[in-house]
Amino acid sequence: MDFDLTQEQLAFRQTARDFATGELIPHAAHWDAHALFPKSTLAKAGELGFCGIYSPEEAGGLGLSRLDATIVFEELAAADPSTTAYLTIHNMATWMLCTWGAPAVRAHWGPLLTGGRKLASYCLTESGAGSDAAALKTRAERNADGYVLNGSKAFISGAGDTDLLVVMARTGGAGAAGISAFAVPADAPGITYGRKEEKMGWNSQPTRAITFDNVRIPADHLLGQEGEGFKIAMRGLDGGRINIATCSVGAAQGALDAAQRYVTERRQFDRVLADFQAIQFKLADMLTELVAARQMVRLAATKLDARAPHATAYCAMAKRLATDIGFTVCNEALQIHGGYGYTREYPLERLMRDARVHQILEGTNEIMRNIVARHLLDTISTGEIR
Ligand SMILES: Cc1cc2nc3c(=O)[nH]c(=O)nc-3n(C[C@H](O)[C@H](O)[C@H](O)COP(=O)(O)OP(=O)(O)OC[C@H]3O[C@@H](n4cnc5c(N)ncnc54)[C@H](O)[C@@H]3O)c2cc1C
Repeated sequence: MDFDLTQEQLAFRQTARDFATGELIPHAAHWDAHALFPKSTLAKAGELGFCGIYSPEEAGGLGLSRLDATIVFEELAAADPSTTAYLTIHNMATWMLCTWGAPAVRAHWGPLLTGGRKLASYCLTESGAGSDAAALKTRAERNADGYVLNGSKAFISGAGDTDLLVVMARTGGAGAAGISAFAVPADAPGITYGRKEEKMGWNSQPTRAITFDNVRIPADHLLGQEGEGFKIAMRGLDGGRINIATCSVGAAQGALDAAQRYVTERRQFDRVLADFQAIQFKLADMLTELVAARQMVRLAATKLDARAPHATAYCAMAKRLATDIGFTVCNEALQIHGGYGYTREYPLERLMRDARVHQILEGTNEIMRNIVARHLLDTISTGEIR
């Protein structure tokens, strides 16, 4: 068991840190304040391979592990959790296309997406099917040429500004087994986008509803086989949850770094804040919990890379733990900054607002507990989990 990063991983981390310093830190507050989606910066991230980190090399991806991806995403998220979180969703949708797309579809879209020249959205949630995603109603009817898509999706990250939609739709009967996944060009006739949602955080990426009105999809744009769509969506989300957990670890590290600097500069009662034991204890707890969250995320990534039994439960545990800890650490760092932490002069309020939604999306933390409990209670048939 080796907890140290390899030389290669240290090199990825440095590349990501340099990119965050040069391309994210100077602009993150502006993108947040003006709700700007930095597509040109995402394209630059694509030039470094960050748009297809764990997508296969033959599709233009870096072919790296989930563990490697956490190292890159954490560095980026410490500067800008919102833009990084979108990048992780793009990576997830791109990996799904590269893994289950038909050869011609993969050959066309793979290099464009992994290179960051085109962007992708992941479309599962509907207004009536959030936590209960398998209840989705969007339908894809088979005809002679392919499929005809009707229905709507809610809360889709990037929607309206992305180029390819990975859409889960019903081709069969009720329940998970009736769902298929499709690659749908975002400008296909019959697709309309709702207004940009006004959100508490994640302002550097748009969130919109999507309506599909008799949208024609070529038959070879089916991902995998008919009826496999829910399984594909959940496989995507296993990694997606590690990614979102990583964004929380990154946000928390960014907040802790800011707090560490601040306590040595800010003076009250004729002393720097760092001299007060109450502040020292707060920092100690923040660091302890952050390290625990990071190790949990890396453990889950390692389990997923190894396709280990219960990898799904580890991803859910990591997402639940790291997003809760991440939010708490950001909030504590804000508290350490006093009134200044509440202003936009410092990044704390942005980091905290961005981290909040990580407890909600890609499955709420209540749903994460459901998954973990199901695995735990099933161990009689599936083997112990410890
Ligand atoms: C900013 C943002 C971006 C998003 N991006 C995407 C995207 O790109 N693609 C996509 O497909 N979706 C996306 N989502 C949707 C997100 O995944 C859902 O919001 C989330 O899964 C929760 O669904 P819901 O909002 O319908 O809440 P609900 O399912 O209505 O849940 C409401 C509350 O009830 C709780 N609850 C529900 N069922 C249970 C249960 N069985 N046991 C205990 N508690 C329960 C939930 O935990 C929650 O607290 C995004 C959401 C947001 C806010």
